[in-house]
Amino acid sequence: MVSKKNLKPGDIILSEEPIVVGPCTGCKVQCLGCYKPLETATPYIKCKGCGWPLCSPKCRGLGKKHGHPQIECAVLKTTKSARLLDYNELEKMRSHYNAIVPLRCLLLKESDPQAYADLMKMETHNEIRRNIPELWRGNQESIVNRIIFDWGLKEYTQEEVHSICGILEVNSFEIGQQGVNIRGLYPTAFLMSHDCVPNTNHVDEEGSFRLTVRASTRIEHGETITLSYAYTLQCTLKRREHLLENKFFECQCKRCSDPTEMGTYSGALICPKCKTGYVLSTNPLDPEADWKCTNLERCPGYRITSKSMQLLIDRIGHEVDGIGCNDVVAMEAFLHKYRNVLHPTHYLCLGVKLSLSQLYGRISGYLIDKLSEDILLRKQQICEEIMKVFNVIEPGFTRLRGVTLYEMHAPLMILLTRQFENHCSKSELRSKLKKVVKCLEEASVILGYEPETSSEGMMGMAAKDALVRIKDWEKILGKF
Ligand SMILES: [Zn+2]
Ligand SMILES: [Zn+2]
Ligand SMILES: [Zn+2]
Ligand SMILES: [Zn+2]
Repeated sequence: MVSKKNLKPGDIILSEEPIVVGPCTGCKVQCLGCYKPLETATPYIKCKGCGWPLCSPKCRGLGKKHGHPQIECAVLKTTKSARLLDYNELEKMRSHYNAIVPLRCLLLKESDPQAYADLMKMETHNEIRRNIPELWRGNQESIVNRIIFDWGLKEYTQEEVHSICGILEVNSFEIGQQGVNIRGLYPTAFLMSHDCVPNTNHVDEEGSFRLTVRASTRIEHGETITLSYAYTLQCTLKRREHLLENKFFECQCKRCSDPTEMGTYSGALICPKCKTGYVLSTNPLDPEADWKCTNLERCPGYRITSKSMQLLIDRIGHEVDGIGCNDVVAMEAFLHKYRNVLHPTHYLCLGVKLSLSQLYGRISGYLIDKLSEDILLRKQQICEEIMKVFNVIEPGFTRLRGVTLYEMHAPLMILLTRQFENHCSKSELRSKLKKVVKCLEEASVILGYEPETSSEGMMGMAAKDALVRIKDWEKILGKF
């Protein structure tokens, strides 16, 4: 997909309703109508028709196209699996959810032949996928056999169901608000190519699942419109592995081709031998290539194999996964422990720093008004450090930048208030105030595109409110 005109950040590229929506593969048990997560502990009911769990008899998704439609209920009614369902066996039900979206796609063949035809034009990568035995066999058991033999849809061929699986794996979007685990297929959004530094951002509307794609940076006429199918906060090794295993291609983008990842060093180690150079891949497009120190004068021979590198990263990654999500002390201890091993903006540090940037000022024991000057400065420093990387890997109007700009304004503002009380120079105050205003203005514009009910959307509104209050401040300062 290529731009037919010059676009500026925030411009809408496309906005469309989904062809199909439903639970992600590997999701937890959820309401088939509205996708609310259901647990044994929370009350739920069984659908009167098919017996599958629902949030309530009045669920807003009952009978709806992108919820639990009649046609689906009729099919599931004939299956044995739901009838045997026990209130204590929700967990056993889990794998059955993998087949729901494929079923919804197949049902379109009769209910909406045009949508089905559009869908079947999408890439399946069957040839590649067929040669990954684990994947193909997994789909055969948990989706193909279930739909054809258990649910009794004998009118579809096994090949057809496998193609649907491929279409979903390659083209679907993970959507929904936080805590919800759903995916959707869209009629044109799938045409966007992948880039590890995308130039668009997308949001989906709650309830309707309408997907809106906006330019996040300037996009010139003729330029390719891109999004990222990988997690931008990971290093090249991890992103390329994910793309190869899940999207079946080897990324060759600018970021992947550059050993420094465009100067962000998000995969770099500090050289254990000379302590001044960085250890980078000798060929980032080859996952088997050795890694070596950049300091050619002092340690020309220092090399490690890609295998050792991966083992090291996985081991440290496990350590990060083991840190509690509010455990500020453990996060700081982690950063301290690896300060001579990982580059300060290595992706594992970056993830921890992103968490810290949001925890300081927000959780009990670290509320913003109570923070010491040292911790306020720490929050500010972390925000500035990660922003430098986000400006490169997720430039422009992106959620990550919007949120971090908002986080950055808080310590700046509190420090400013305290300095005001301590009578520092007015010109100094004015220049600092300008910095706060800049953060808030950009944050409110970027987050203004987020749904109002999402945490980012609410942050955007808080940024607007803070700007109004600051105008009063500026008036006070203006009098001096
Ligand atoms: Zn529901
Ligand atoms: Zn039903
Ligand atoms: Zn790439
Ligand atoms: Zn070295």
